Amino acid sequence: MTQERLYINGEWIALQENIEVNNPATNEVIATVPNGGEKEAEKAVAGAYEAFPTWKNKTAAERSSLLMKWYEAIAAEEEEIGKLMTIEQGKPLNEAIGEVKYANSFLAWYAEEGKRIYGETIPASVPNKRLFVQKQPVGVVAVITPWNFPAAMITRKVAPALAAGCTVVIKPAEQTPLTAFKLAKLAEKAGIPKGVINVVTGNAAEIGETWMKDSRVRKISFTGSTEVGKLLMRGAADTVKKVSLELGGHAPFIVTEHANIEKAVEGAITSKFRNAGQTCVCTNRIYVHEAVEKEFTEAFVAGVEKLRVGNGLEEGVEIGPLIDEKAVKKVAYQIQDAKDKGASLLLGGDQSAEHGENFMQPTVISNVNDSMLCMREETFGPLAPISTFKTNEEVIQRANHSPYGLAAYVFSEHISEAISIAENLEYGIVGLNDGLPSTAQAPFGGFKESGLGREGGHHGLDEFLEIKYISLGL
Ligand code: ADP
Repeated sequence: MTQERLYINGEWIALQENIEVNNPATNEVIATVPNGGEKEAEKAVAGAYEAFPTWKNKTAAERSSLLMKWYEAIAAEEEEIGKLMTIEQGKPLNEAIGEVKYANSFLAWYAEEGKRIYGETIPASVPNKRLFVQKQPVGVVAVITPWNFPAAMITRKVAPALAAGCTVVIKPAEQTPLTAFKLAKLAEKAGIPKGVINVVTGNAAEIGETWMKDSRVRKISFTGSTEVGKLLMRGAADTVKKVSLELGGHAPFIVTEHANIEKAVEGAITSKFRNAGQTCVCTNRIYVHEAVEKEFTEAFVAGVEKLRVGNGLEEGVEIGPLIDEKAVKKVAYQIQDAKDKGASLLLGGDQSAEHGENFMQPTVISNVNDSMLCMREETFGPLAPISTFKTNEEVIQRANHSPYGLAAYVFSEHISEAISIAENLEYGIVGLNDGLPSTAQAPFGGFKESGLGREGGHHGLDEFLEIKYISLGL
């Protein structure tokens, strides 16, 4: 049982009032973190604002070297961080260590990319002028992150922010603050100067509102629910902050009659059941061409049947608990709704009560239609609904019929068909014969209500930069 402190302007601050952090596998309290509010949120912004000019004026190479030291500090403790993550979030240890590596890849990538923030010169329309474009850091960035990727959602924002020359105030999810504090401790150890990174936990709405009202905060980068994203976007309007939002998803997974079924099954299992189905790019609905439905469904059920449920610290476990009881109830409700509307249960369908209250069996249902909740609302759990289609036009239309537009998956070995479907999907990310498209060097983000802006790649760095145009009269 540990007692964490806030990290503000290089100081570790304890508060009288604390909140408990649970292990979702056992429902035991594993730590407490300070219950911060307006005062602490404001103090963090003051620290980040004060640190900004010095951090901004370091050379890109100096910032890069500090980011790499942070990277090395994290790499040296991959297992410890992984364990901490499994205990507070629930994902299997192997997956947690995989996330630490993925999270760290953003530090390594942006440590390099930060050296390539190039400007432009533009030909003038008169002989006695010279036109230049420079890129400069936006300033203090507010970072608010969810619980499903306790490390990666932080580094995916903080690495490009720091590489660009910005300073940050972070509010991790209340369910998973321990990984965030651990990363902050390693940043301090690596020599990242005080005030450059600040971490505040506590009342989310109060902290968020304080940051949205503060004109010193020039950008908000948020990953979480569409509802809170919209709220923050409205809040950011008063001081016209830049906004990056990674919100909900409802990924369609399309298997055409030209798919390699083995590859499609493997891709669907990876994309559906990673983190027990709790990722915003998780497959939410599977559409299989009617000609290959039987073959796909049989192989898929056989694959899902093998997934082992249990406490993520146990060897060989592939599906950990869901984050809390509410999450379990939501999945159970969607299963019941689908059954009531005529779906057939092929596998699972119930809580995995022998492991604990928050566990859910990997579930596969067929005979699914678009009126069912699981085909319209984000599931965030291990439920795989299979529906069939007759034509590609039909499946594109059904896949696009959603307010969300984050990730979609298409499996087809027919190159023209595959490209044509991918191009017609209103989604920011398309995994073409690929169930795991996310990587540090590529742009991640959604169309429509799935968000604004991109994370990863050089696109992710631009989000933290202002463009300055200098017109020089000779
Ligand atoms: P989820 O449903 O996945 O928990 P949320 O959007 O509620 O998604 O949470 C994502 C992050 O947003 C968390 O860090 C949470 O504390 C934070 N959050 C929740 N409500 C607010 C709010 N009103 N203002 C700012 N941040 C919030």
